Amino acid sequence: MAKINPATQVNHPPVLIIGAGIAGLVFAQGLRKHSIPFLVFERDTAANSRLQGWALTIHFALGRLLSMLPDDILQRLDDTQVDPRLSCDKSHSVFINLETCEYKWKLPPGYGTRKRLSRDRFRQLLLSGLEESKTLLWGKEFVGFDVDESGLPLARFADGTQYKGCLLVGADGSSSRIRGRLYDLQAAPTRPLPVMFLGTSVVVREPYIAALRALDPTLFQGCQPRTRTWMWFSVMESPDINGTASRPPEERLWKIQLCLSWLTSAAEDAEQQGGDSSAPDLSTDAARIRVMRQKAADFDPRIASVFRDAIPDDHGPVLKLRLFDWHIPSPSTGTLGAVTLVGDAAHTMSMYRGEGFNHAILDAYHLCQTAREISNAAGTEDGRWLEVREKAIRDYEGETRARGEVAVAMCRASCLEVHYWDKLSENSIVRRTGHYA
Ligand SMILES: Cc1cc2nc3c(=O)[nH]c(=O)nc-3n(C[C@H](O)[C@H](O)[C@H](O)COP(=O)(O)OP(=O)(O)OC[C@H]3O[C@@H](n4cnc5c(N)ncnc54)[C@H](O)[C@@H]3O)c2cc1C
Repeated sequence: MAKINPATQVNHPPVLIIGAGIAGLVFAQGLRKHSIPFLVFERDTAANSRLQGWALTIHFALGRLLSMLPDDILQRLDDTQVDPRLSCDKSHSVFINLETCEYKWKLPPGYGTRKRLSRDRFRQLLLSGLEESKTLLWGKEFVGFDVDESGLPLARFADGTQYKGCLLVGADGSSSRIRGRLYDLQAAPTRPLPVMFLGTSVVVREPYIAALRALDPTLFQGCQPRTRTWMWFSVMESPDINGTASRPPEERLWKIQLCLSWLTSAAEDAEQQGGDSSAPDLSTDAARIRVMRQKAADFDPRIASVFRDAIPDDHGPVLKLRLFDWHIPSPSTGTLGAVTLVGDAAHTMSMYRGEGFNHAILDAYHLCQTAREISNAAGTEDGRWLEVREKAIRDYEGETRARGEVAVAMCRASCLEVHYWDKLSENSIVRRTGHYA
C-alpha cells in the first residue's frame, strides 16, 4: 500500500516541484526567499549522478534572477561564473566560416549586463539550503498524479510514496512526464528538428587552442558551407581559475566546450527510429568522438587539429541530442489549476539562441508571484483559494504560452539557418535579441 508522507499533514500543504534541474531549483529558491513551503523531488540519486557541464549565458532574464534569489545564494552567484573575476560577461557574438576562418560577423555584446555561468557550479549553488532543510528528496521518480476531492494534487513516485500539495509543478525537463498528463500530445505533439547535436567539455593544453582563441578569446560559432556542419567553441575554465597560469604555456590547462551539429537525412532519421540505414554509429562516447573528428576533418586545420589531437580517444561524456521542440498549446484543463509546468517542460527549444534557461527564469519568476497569491489565499477557510489558484495559474500559463510560442519558433528558425552559410545575413534570426519581461 502507498505510504502518505508526514510532510503532507501540515496545515499549509507544500508546493510540489518535480525535477531538480536549474528551472526547478531557481523556482524553489524563489519560494524559499518568501518562506512558502515546498518540496523538490528528483529522479537522480545524487547531485553528481550525471555530468551536464555546459555554460549558460544569462541575458534578458538576469534582472529577474537577481530579484528572486535569497541573499545567501546571491552573494555567491559570481563564483559560479565561467570567469569569477568578471562582474559581467563581455563576450562578442562571432560567426565564422569553419573552412576558412573568415568572419561572417563579429558583434559587440547585444544585451546589457550578462553573466556566463558554469551550469554545474550554478546548480550546486542552487542546492544550498535545500538538502539541509530536507526540502529536496533524491531518488524520487515521479510516475503520476491525481487531484483529490478537495482540489489538492497528489504526486506519486516509483518507490510507492505519495505526497499531497497545494500546487504540483512539472520542472521535469524536455521529456516531461507531467506534460503528457496535462495536454493532448496527439493533437499538439513534440516537433522533431532535422538536426543531430553532439557536445562535450574537455581539458586541453594551451598550445592546442591558441589559434582558436586568436579567432575569439572566449567563444565563437561557425558553419562549414559545403557540409552544413555547425560548431560551437567556448572557454569554460582558464588557467587563472584552475591554478596553472604560472606554468609554461604547454602545461597551462584550459577547459573548453566543443559542440557540433549537422542536418540529418531521411535515412538518418529512420536509423534514429530503429530502421536500417547508413547513419553514423553514435551509441558510445568513443563512437561520438570518432564522428566529431570525421565531421571536423574538413574544417580549417587550426580547428580540425583540436578535434583530431586534443581530445583523447576514450574521452567522455559526450552529450548526444536529437533535437525537437514544443510549447504549451493552450490553457490546461481538468485540474482546476492544481498542476502546471516550468522551464523546458513548458517550452522545449533548440539552444542556438541560448534562451531556454532565460525563459525558465522568467517562468520561475512569474510562478513565484502566482504561488504567493495562492499561498495567501490558502489561509482562508472558505475554499475560495481554489478559485484564486485556478485564475492565477490560468494567467501564468497564458503568459508562458505566448512567450514560449514566439521563442520556440525563433529558436527553430535559428537552428535551421546556422547550418546554411549562404543564408546568414545581418537579418538572421540568430542575431536578433529577444525582448521579454
Ligand atoms: C549545450 C547547451 C547549451 C545551452 N546554453 C544555454 C544558454 O547559454 N542560455 C540559456 O538560456 N539556455 C541554454 N541552454 C538551455 C538550458 O540548458 C535549458 O533550457 C535548461 O537547462 C532547462 O532546465 P530545466 O530545469 O527545465 O530542465 P532539466 O535541466 O532537463 O532538468 C529536469 C530535471 O528533472 C528531472 N526529472 C525528469 N523526469 C523526472 C521524473 N519523472 N521524476 C523526477 N525527476 C525527473 C531530471 O533528472 C532533471 O534533473 C543550453 C542547452 C544546451 C544543451
